[in-house]
Amino acid sequence: MTGPSLVLGEPLDLPLPEAWPKPHPRCRACAQLAKERLEAQAEGDYSKVSDANVELRRHASPHRRRQP
Ligand SMILES: [Zn+2]
Repeated sequence: MTGPSLVLGEPLDLPLPEAWPKPHPRCRACAQLAKERLEAQAEGDYSKVSDANVELRRHASPHRRRQP
């Protein structure tokens, strides 16, 4: 148990939710990217995390069309 070390109102050092694109539920590529993103986050490798976010966001556009 630790005391309340976080000051309320202080911004956490985390990306904003909108900076975290959601993986498409039925897309394998998205699932892979989301997995890599989680792993990178666990390692504290935030440049990899943002790379995965960029790829997820860029990759999201084909979802609007039917994939072959
Ligand atoms: Zn996808």
